[in-house]
Amino acid sequence: MFGEEALLEALNSTPVVDGVPRDLWLDGPALSRWAVQHGGDGGPTEQEWLRKTRDALQRVVRGESGPEALTALVAGAHKVPHLSAEGLDWILEVEADRRPAVELVLTWAHIQKELPGRLRPCANSDCRLFLVDHSRANTARWCSMRTCGNRLKARRHHERQRQAEGRTAPPRADR
Ligand SMILES: [Zn+2]
Repeated sequence: MFGEEALLEALNSTPVVDGVPRDLWLDGPALSRWAVQHGGDGGPTEQEWLRKTRDALQRVVRGESGPEALTALVAGAHKVPHLSAEGLDWILEVEADRRPAVELVLTWAHIQKELPGRLRPCANSDCRLFLVDHSRANTARWCSMRTCGNRLKARRHHERQRQAEGRTAPPRADR
């Protein structure tokens, strides 16, 4: 299983850059590097599994599909017990090409269990990033306060000002 950071890197690999949705994982070398950093070999089959799994996880986190949609991605994977001086470990057994993708799904499942409802899309509808909310009050809404949070606050402020001045708002092009 990976850490939360790896899961967010995967989910956040389709950002909007200068108003245009981008897929950072479409570029083979970038995804290959990520896969190697996470125990894979970075080969094309592994990349294909990772992209497919990332897309499915994004849909689930956005609520566009249910978690059942992930079943096919982990089908056939299993964990076997391994005993050593350190104690009992459960080792994931799955084809090498699928390992990083399966680990991503397991990481998602772990976070769902440990931090239910805390993994969510950024509340800025122009943003395609995700966040894990660690705030005590569970009120974090933006991928980043510095970018989306401030931008939306500024937009609301402008809208309120315009309303106060009794003018109709022209369409804004500040994205
Ligand atoms: Zn955002």
